[in-house]
Amino acid sequence: MTKNTSKIIIAGPCSAESKDQILSTAKSIEKIQDVSFFRAGIWKPRTRPNLFEGIGEKGLKWLQEVGNTTNLKTTTEVAKTTHVEKCLEYNIDALWIGARTTVSPFSVQEISEALKGTKKIILVKNPVNEDLSLWLGALERLDKVGIKNIIAIHRGFTAPSGGAYRNNPLWHIPLELKERCPELPIICDPSHMLGRREGLQELSQQALDLGFDGLMIETHPTPEKALSDSKQQITPKDLKELLQNLQFDSIELRNKRILPQHDKSLKALRNLIEPLDQELLEVLQKRMKVVKQIARLKKTSKIKVFQKKRMEELLGKVEVAAQRKGLDKKYVRNLYKIIHNESVNRQTEIINVLEKR
Ligand code: PEP
Ligand code: MN
Repeated sequence: MTKNTSKIIIAGPCSAESKDQILSTAKSIEKIQDVSFFRAGIWKPRTRPNLFEGIGEKGLKWLQEVGNTTNLKTTTEVAKTTHVEKCLEYNIDALWIGARTTVSPFSVQEISEALKGTKKIILVKNPVNEDLSLWLGALERLDKVGIKNIIAIHRGFTAPSGGAYRNNPLWHIPLELKERCPELPIICDPSHMLGRREGLQELSQQALDLGFDGLMIETHPTPEKALSDSKQQITPKDLKELLQNLQFDSIELRNKRILPQHDKSLKALRNLIEPLDQELLEVLQKRMKVVKQIARLKKTSKIKVFQKKRMEELLGKVEVAAQRKGLDKKYVRNLYKIIHNESVNRQTEIINVLEKR
């Protein structure tokens, strides 16, 4: 099927579960214009044990059949040498390194060595923690063994639970990666970023508007019955609709088409936001001054810097105040955890300096 876009679109279930699930999903996805890769996890890196850890090698046979009977390229996750060897044996087209593996230079090195000499496409997800160097390091290790076809996948970074994202986008990190490696295609995985189906359309559009080179979207015939990531997967039918509703042309081109008065109103609203941000910073500065005074007092009266009861009291108070102001209480709670943590760190620093005198 001819494609509408040059973007790299990857779709398929979080995990391979049965032959029928894999083949029927692939057949449905094949009919969707613009999808070029079929994904399915064979070995699943579960955060906690005793959850579904993947179907294992027999799933590779099903993926190979997808490769042989559809026009989709196949891809799965590899986390160690034996995974790489099995994928090469079953002729999987592209292998991805998952977020929990990118954090480990030993594992990435081992995988890179096992890949030496292959012409396969290798995709590298960002590490779970917000560390661009680890991501770059993994890309460099692959480059060093001569891998030419590398694609980075931005899936977000571990986020506090209860927030809007399962994994925080922190867009500045992949954008910095793009600046450092302009030739490297970077695609976005909004499914793992959001952790839920609702909002996937908007987040996918946001990624395209930021210049990402494609998307990886988890797709399952019956998402609510999926053995992993059931909340975030969508049906092939919904995937088709999502892709049809996306605007693939660049935001610059679209902005030129947007009525100039919209542009003006946006500028005016942004002008309102900027002084508010300044005000926020000034309040934070004032707060920090008081925090420093508290540090000195704690030092003279030998009171411990971190007091659990005080933290809970503070978080409780701001939650109630946030609710009264119509703000999301989890958002404010998380924000205050950061503010409080910084206060504790600064107080500890101050007391350490005073004690050395
Ligand atoms: C996945 O793609 O199913 C997966 C486990 O992703 P991540 O490594 O991004 O958590
Ligand atoms: Mn998943």
